[in-house]
Amino acid sequence: MKVFENPDLHCHSTRSDGHLTPTEVVSRALANGVDLLALTDHDELDGIDEALAAARDTALRLLPGVEISTSFAGETIHIVGLGIDHRHRPLQQALAELRAGRAERAERIGAELARCGIPDALAGARRLARNPELVGRAHFARHIVACGLMPDVKTVFDHYLATGKPGFVPHQWAEVEQAVGWIVASGGLAVLAHPARYRLSSRELQALLARFQNAGGEAIEVVGGAHTEQEMHRFAGIARQRGLLASRASDFHGIGEGPVDLGRCNPLPPDLIPVWSRFC
Ligand code: AMP
Ligand code: MN
Ligand code: MN
Ligand code: MN
Repeated sequence: MKVFENPDLHCHSTRSDGHLTPTEVVSRALANGVDLLALTDHDELDGIDEALAAARDTALRLLPGVEISTSFAGETIHIVGLGIDHRHRPLQQALAELRAGRAERAERIGAELARCGIPDALAGARRLARNPELVGRAHFARHIVACGLMPDVKTVFDHYLATGKPGFVPHQWAEVEQAVGWIVASGGLAVLAHPARYRLSSRELQALLARFQNAGGEAIEVVGGAHTEQEMHRFAGIARQRGLLASRASDFHGIGEGPVDLGRCNPLPPDLIPVWSRFC
């Protein structure tokens, strides 16, 4: 059985809102000593073949992955699929529909930002998005920074793009059960991404986890770029209590954007069952 020493099971490329191409992501992960990497672009499988080719005959094993956008209790919840079959037609079709919804949402975000006095934001975001089907909030944020209107992406989210801010538009993504179902049907394992990010009460989080597990979801990100030490301990406790496998995930988007580089997350608490035990 292969023991992985530096797995990183969540990151992005230019096929969604990452800064590096799939090939560049794999090269950087290799340079950082990652031995198991999942490329998990938002609602998109298009980068997987390139990443697999880049990882061939290297010390890095590439797991096909995806990060699916879902809606629950007014929050957007992200569900990562690991070890999916990126050629599975029902999964591809479901993600194509989510991307069509994104295109329509991008127009509404552009209109909201125009009302806030930021004209032509949609054109700017489209210019920055390397995948025309995947214009996301990160591209709007980067455009606003590039225009010199705000110092950094995080500040743009805090002022305009986070839930409830003036440039935010509500959007109906997939249901939690649908996303888990698509992942499982394509042979993958579903992971609840960055649980600390959601504005949910403890009761709502437990309700979300119940729905997620009833649908076949099996794992939760415990160690991740978005988690403080305290949050890591909280979600380690929830993994133990609910019998969830634990994941380790940088959620890397690019150099200098986000808190953690590829393969640089802390280790998992040793008593947890790592999600990669399923991929050894
Ligand atoms: P979207 O899927 O288009 O709604 O965009 C979600 C993406 O926006 C996340 O994956 C991050 O890349 C980025 N994002 C969300 N919240 C923040 C934040 N507070 N600061 C920086 N980036 C963020
Ligand atoms: Mn992102
Ligand atoms: Mn996410
Ligand atoms: Mn992500």
